[in-house]
Amino acid sequence: MEKRTFLKTGFLLGVTAAVAPFFEACKTATKAAVTTAAPVIPPPKIRRSKPFELPPLGYESSALEPHIDKLTMEIHHGKHHAAYVSNLNEGVKDTMYADYELDDIIARITTADADKKIRNNAGGHWNHSFFWQSMSPKGGGMPQGALASAINGTFGSYDAFKEQFSNAAKSVFGSGWAWLCVGADKKLFISSTPNQDNPLMTQVVKQIGKPILGLDVWEHAYYLKNQNRRPEYINSFYNVINWSEVGMRYEKALG
Ligand code: MN
Repeated sequence: MEKRTFLKTGFLLGVTAAVAPFFEACKTATKAAVTTAAPVIPPPKIRRSKPFELPPLGYESSALEPHIDKLTMEIHHGKHHAAYVSNLNEGVKDTMYADYELDDIIARITTADADKKIRNNAGGHWNHSFFWQSMSPKGGGMPQGALASAINGTFGSYDAFKEQFSNAAKSVFGSGWAWLCVGADKKLFISSTPNQDNPLMTQVVKQIGKPILGLDVWEHAYYLKNQNRRPEYINSFYNVINWSEVGMRYEKALG
């Protein structure tokens, strides 16, 4: 090698080594800028190392009888929810979401067509996991403690809350969910979302909040028992709401 070539090569190697961290930093910065449109979302903390799995119901499929029937629960959990989980695992393959935890996907998912499969199935998995724990064989009755005070303060009374929540659930056109949430101002609000969207999808929904109660009003949630009578199903739900879980979610959401 001539001296001049050697010097040139040596110089280039030195420059490459010196700027490599800079390029890495740029790549990270570019990626972050693309994936974290306002509001600001912290970077994902946990890298997932295994596929998403169907969580257990936490009670027997017949345990919510007579309010919600066994066959509906079996199919809803064992078929519908299971399908969201497997389609989510399929959907995230080879995407930037592949190693993200579910909450990290939910917070980042956008309305872009390319995100649609992941949005529907990540939402489906999150919403149903949340829904099973929103109900209990020992459920029903009234909210207690701080949550009861907040419900009375926000809506006037438990009955007024019930009416507003039921109206939100009845008004969903087609498939979707009704939610009771805690907003950024720490106040309760009721909202609804279409399909499998939820109030944690900050890039998707208009009313952003932390859900503490959710009601699935897709026909698959009630058609076998209630057929077209969605209001009848909504009324049944109040008999199984797990208010102690919802109360804990409320206190956690207040931070
Ligand atoms: Mn469902």
